[in-house]
Amino acid sequence: MVNSPRSVPENLASRPHVVVIGGGFAGVAVAKGLADQDVRVTIIDQHNFHTFQPLLYQVATAGLEPADVAFPIRTIFGHARNVRFRHGRVRRVDQSRNLVTLGDGSEIDFDHLVIATGAVATFFGVPGASQFAMPLYTLSDARRLRNRLLSVLEETEVRGDSDGASPQLTFVVVGGGPTGVETSGALTELIQIAIKRDGLRLDPARIRVVLVDMAPRLLTGFPQRASDYAKRRLESSGVDVQFGRSVVDIDEHSIHFEDGERVECAAVIWAAGVSAGDALPQDLSSTSGPGGRVRVSADLRLLDSANVWAVGDAAAVPSMDGAFCAQLAPVAIQSGRHCAAQILHVVHGEVTTPFHYHDKGIMATIGRNAAVAELPHGVVVKGRLGWLAWLGLHLWYLVGFRNRLRVFINWTWRYFDWPSGPRLIVADAETVD
Ligand SMILES: Cc1cc2nc3c(=O)[nH]c(=O)nc-3n(C[C@H](O)[C@H](O)[C@H](O)COP(=O)(O)OP(=O)(O)OC[C@H]3O[C@@H](n4cnc5c(N)ncnc54)[C@H](O)[C@@H]3O)c2cc1C
Repeated sequence: MVNSPRSVPENLASRPHVVVIGGGFAGVAVAKGLADQDVRVTIIDQHNFHTFQPLLYQVATAGLEPADVAFPIRTIFGHARNVRFRHGRVRRVDQSRNLVTLGDGSEIDFDHLVIATGAVATFFGVPGASQFAMPLYTLSDARRLRNRLLSVLEETEVRGDSDGASPQLTFVVVGGGPTGVETSGALTELIQIAIKRDGLRLDPARIRVVLVDMAPRLLTGFPQRASDYAKRRLESSGVDVQFGRSVVDIDEHSIHFEDGERVECAAVIWAAGVSAGDALPQDLSSTSGPGGRVRVSADLRLLDSANVWAVGDAAAVPSMDGAFCAQLAPVAIQSGRHCAAQILHVVHGEVTTPFHYHDKGIMATIGRNAAVAELPHGVVVKGRLGWLAWLGLHLWYLVGFRNRLRVFINWTWRYFDWPSGPRLIVADAETVD
């Protein structure tokens, strides 16, 4: 957090104006790097809060509250004399006139522009997926999914017959990456708690959580032994893990696979992939490369641009091996910091330097007490130790002391008193979907 209140300096208006689109990990890192420097910064976001995406699945499965994983952007920069927040969605970028246009038609000019718009869920053109599958990319997605999961459990109990026989209930999670693994693990825990603690009259044997992926293993970005461990852990907690399953369409009540099987299900959770291109404002998509990400040169400027930069998930950030960095929070934070330093170099007439990502490892949790982490040099940490490492790291990166404290208390409480958690359907009855 940027602190130390000061009065607005008189020469602020004459300083180069840096506009940052997006208040995620990358945009916040850029603005933090430029706070109290010789520039004027406007950070624009369509939400007035920063979202800690890695914990969205816990909001969706009723482990955390929405406010635990979101933090007002104004509060992050409230005391920075040269950083302003503008709430709104950027619709167009006009590079030739150095202007961005917001949804309400207002225009903001810039000397430097940073594209930090992240990515959004992509459905790969699967018919029915955008309409019926539930993605998990924003706080609204997480809240909607939580309402849906809890509503489905309630409705299923109502459908049970008077002898207590409960109907068959299937949830399908599409995508065996970290989000799919984490969500299916947490979903089985939610179901167990709802039955054991909340007294829902459902038969656990008739409830299935199925995790499907086209690939032959889970967590393809991790070493094979981490994937095997994740599969074993998920299966031991009751998740049905299926590989080589290609989804061909989804409707309101079922999912259909390429091999002809159609599975009746109460909800399809979509964790199959993201596209940066769909999040980009107009006139930038022409610059996009792999995954719709904006192509940038080594210093993170758009190819052929002197003053437009791209960072985080929105950018095809070059990696040391000649490929591109993964779309991960540490890449977003490091590229954001680097971009801020390069803008200051340009402002001061200095040469820029190339970005090098320092890979400190990747991790995914598989449920309470279990996680896998791949550290540098191929070291794999699993089980409780991995989970503790995951817990510490996520607390460290959470924005705001209040959020950190609250999440720490919630997690500690849940650990010793497992069933506590915000299992609330927060929606008017007619809007629950
Ligand atoms: C469910 C989930 C779990 C994840 N788990 C992990 C994990 O465990 N570890 C890890 O390292 N990474 C994880 N990631 C990836 C990580 O969260 C992203 O790499 C990171 O958030 C990227 O940061 P960013 O700032 O580039 O984009 P984002 O965090 O997506 O932020 C982009 C911001 O731009 C705003 N925006 C977009 N378009 C506009 C516009 N036109 N106008 C105004 N504002 C706009 C959005 O509202 C948003 O606030 C996860 C992602 C998801 C979705």
